[in-house]
Amino acid sequence: MATNRTFTMIKPDAVQDNHIGAITQMMEEGGFRVVAMKKTLLTKERAGDFYAVHKERPFYNDLVSYMSKGPIVAMILEKDNAVEDFRKLIGATNPAQAEEGTIRKRFAKSIESNAVHGSDSDENAKIEGDFFFKADEQF
Ligand code: GDP
Ligand code: MG
Repeated sequence: MATNRTFTMIKPDAVQDNHIGAITQMMEEGGFRVVAMKKTLLTKERAGDFYAVHKERPFYNDLVSYMSKGPIVAMILEKDNAVEDFRKLIGATNPAQAEEGTIRKRFAKSIESNAVHGSDSDENAKIEGDFFFKADEQF
């Protein structure tokens, strides 16, 4: 069953480049409401736990290093059909394939430093949101 929430992170490169406001604006203008929001620094261990599903992929160690190299902004977002619509708003993983008007087209630098995360299913959106936010931080 589709739910109306998804989880996102603004990744370290985009935070370092001062794009928190512009990216959040694209999310809000895309019809998403901010349910929870936090700037935090992931340790390598915690980044590894977050991306545990990718443990066997060749880029896992690079990804964990990248995601822990500087602060990120974690957010829960709400909209009808949130997971699918948000994947459309962020665009393809590889910015070379991302469509015009997407967040990754505008802000991603490479397939790794691609500006934002977006959950890939309702189930993972719930798991990922709860990874960062307690129930009384989700409104
Ligand atoms: P997403 O769901 O679009 O974020 O993509 P994936 O779930 O497949 O990958 C998770 C993250 O790993 C991506 O957002 C990138 O930051 C990184 N990543 C994916 N593919 C590659 C790759 O081929 N090389 C490297 N270095 N990083 C990658
Ligand atoms: Mg993914």
